[in-house]
Amino acid sequence: MTNDALLEKTDNKKVLRIFVRTVVFLIVLLFIYVFVLLTNQRHGIHLVTDEESGVLDLQHWSFEHDGRNYINAGWTFYPNQLLTPQDFGYPVDSDGPGPSFERITPASAYPHYTNVSISTNGWTHFGLSAEPSSESVPVMSEFGYGTYRIAIRIAPDSGVIAMDFPEINHAAKIYANGKLLASFGKISESVDGYENEEAYSDIRVSPSEDGMIDIIIPCSNFSSPFGGIAVPPAIGTPEQIDAIDTVSKMWISGVVTLFVLLIITGFYVSSTFRRKLKYYFFILIIMISISYEFSDKIFNPMPGNWNKLLQTTFFLLMSLNAALYFSSLYPKNDDSLFAKIKNWDIVLIATMVCAFLAVYWMRPDLLYYNSSVIANSTFVTIINSYNFLRVLYMTPRYPEQGTFYLISAAMASIIFSTMIIRSPQIFFIPLHSVGIVLMIFGTAIYFTIRYVNNFNQIKRFTVELENAVQEKTRSIARVNAELVSTNQMLIKNEEARKKMMSNVSHDLRTPITAIRGYIELIMNAKANTPRDTIRTYLTNMHTRSVQMEQLIDDLVQLTRLESDPADIKTQTVNLRDMIDNLYELYLMESEGSNKQLHLDLPKDDMLTVMGDPNRLLRVFENLIVNAMRYTADDGKINIRAFRELAMLGGDSVHIIVSDNGIGIPSSELPYIFDRFYRATNASIHKSGSGLGLSIVKSIVEKHGGRIWADSVEKEGSSFHVILPSAGPRDMERATRKREDPDSAPLS
Ligand code: ADP
Repeated sequence: MTNDALLEKTDNKKVLRIFVRTVVFLIVLLFIYVFVLLTNQRHGIHLVTDEESGVLDLQHWSFEHDGRNYINAGWTFYPNQLLTPQDFGYPVDSDGPGPSFERITPASAYPHYTNVSISTNGWTHFGLSAEPSSESVPVMSEFGYGTYRIAIRIAPDSGVIAMDFPEINHAAKIYANGKLLASFGKISESVDGYENEEAYSDIRVSPSEDGMIDIIIPCSNFSSPFGGIAVPPAIGTPEQIDAIDTVSKMWISGVVTLFVLLIITGFYVSSTFRRKLKYYFFILIIMISISYEFSDKIFNPMPGNWNKLLQTTFFLLMSLNAALYFSSLYPKNDDSLFAKIKNWDIVLIATMVCAFLAVYWMRPDLLYYNSSVIANSTFVTIINSYNFLRVLYMTPRYPEQGTFYLISAAMASIIFSTMIIRSPQIFFIPLHSVGIVLMIFGTAIYFTIRYVNNFNQIKRFTVELENAVQEKTRSIARVNAELVSTNQMLIKNEEARKKMMSNVSHDLRTPITAIRGYIELIMNAKANTPRDTIRTYLTNMHTRSVQMEQLIDDLVQLTRLESDPADIKTQTVNLRDMIDNLYELYLMESEGSNKQLHLDLPKDDMLTVMGDPNRLLRVFENLIVNAMRYTADDGKINIRAFRELAMLGGDSVHIIVSDNGIGIPSSELPYIFDRFYRATNASIHKSGSGLGLSIVKSIVEKHGGRIWADSVEKEGSSFHVILPSAGPRDMERATRKREDPDSAPLS
């Protein structure tokens, strides 16, 4: 499998994992959604209507034990009539005893519907079980007036009972057992006398001795197409009813606190993000959705159309913001479909939102039409689906962040869909808030994980960086040390060069000056100058010129050795014979002096090395000459050569030339192999150029050998040379070379 295929496979696996995770998350979310939806529906249970009197029988319902109940069915409705308790036989001053079971009858004198169910659409929809008292009972239109009535019988010892009416559209009076308990706006039979007020109320009632509660609610509505009671009221103990309010407020407080916390910490965290824009859009969504929550009439009772107008405005702005948020999620510079669309989608959505808002702000009454609600919902659903599709399309392209975005999109969809269906059905703990809290938690967790991951990564990078810096520092220090030593070497070389120049010029000038002196002597010689004198002059001149030639030869040789490594022509060299011959030569030369030369060579070893015979000859000659020069007339010179066996690597040949001459001062010993260097004691005794040993060292090293000297001043010196001996393979190669006529001629 190729690398690419492998990578693709891992990518696919990753995407699959993300997909599964997301599906699981969505299923869990769906469960929460359904759970909250079911547990928060306001529906009545255990509602049995007494056949004869039409009284709702809750006698066997224990509020303490079973909790509150929602009264959504069993109402009587009197269309186009504003009735009061007096119309049902209550005295004008109704402070007397409450109604009794016998007295409660649906006043058949007024046309009415029985068994009416409370619905979101108010009095325009009574449910299938509603029955008109006669054929002439009018059907309610959107605007108008009417009266609700319900008689409930509870256990006589229930004590004070509370009822909450979350939504009565709009002006209304609430009577219980003949007494006026609450009044909103001004009810009227015509638009002129009508005054709207947002209606949210809870009332306290003491049932009559036999447990009767008779509720009469005349109401009128000329400002909303949903007239009458829109949300079933809850009946329960005052504590239970208070709890609804408390829990709602606590819930909202919790959401606000979380929201504030998220803003504060979020701004810190967002400073570490590359794309801050999406964070701000996200915050805006939450901010607007909370404003939406607060603009609900339950929490912010504003007069007239303001609540509805603000709520719709927030609702539409939130949709625009969500679109902005989702379009900010992914980078725009890739080659995806949405990169090509650029921001045209946003421009379109913004234009639509502006158009919607302009219409509603100019004609707020339009808000109360079903068609407006359908238009809003459709518009928001389209935007939302578009957001969702966008994220779905982008997730596989950015798998790392994709899951989070997909979850955000799912959350947003749920939030918006809840807003569309919420208020009437889900009053207690709006699901919308659940969505916000989940979204806040999700985002907080996501941001935290991202933040921690980033932090860890930075920490790792820091450590790596520190290591890299340390490594670099070390290598810089190393390079620096090398530079320093190179620099020192260069300075030394420069000094050596200067010294060499002055030495060369001095050493060349000395013989030339001498020669010129002799020439002048000869030129000025008188005719009678003895012939012998002239001969002496010429002999001296000859000596001087030989000296000069020698010096120039040495210089040329040294320069060549240093500049051209290939100058050495190797072949097998028989060191034993070479040293033996040299010994014989210098033995003869020392005849006439008292110098004693001694030779020590192995009998059965030719001491063969690979090398340039001429150069090697120069090495040993130079060492022997020096030994003879720097010893007294009766000096002893010892020449020794032997094979040194090695455990590892090849054998070597060790040559030692020692004498008992003037020796070398220990402080000067390290410099004797330098060019032109002459020990102080030597220059007193003998003349010389100081080039010999540097040439010798150069030749030895070119042969892969080593040279060093031991010496004690006034006692003598030993010069050691070690050369690698020729192995059997070298010898073979050398023989073959000799037989090959094409090979270069031997020097
Ligand atoms: P030169 O002999 O021309 O001075 P070399 O390079 O041959 O130059 O030797 C360098 C110096 O080493 C000599 O000047 C001398 O001081 C010292 N030296 C060389 N060989 C001996 C020796 N056998 N005994 C004492 N000093 C020696």
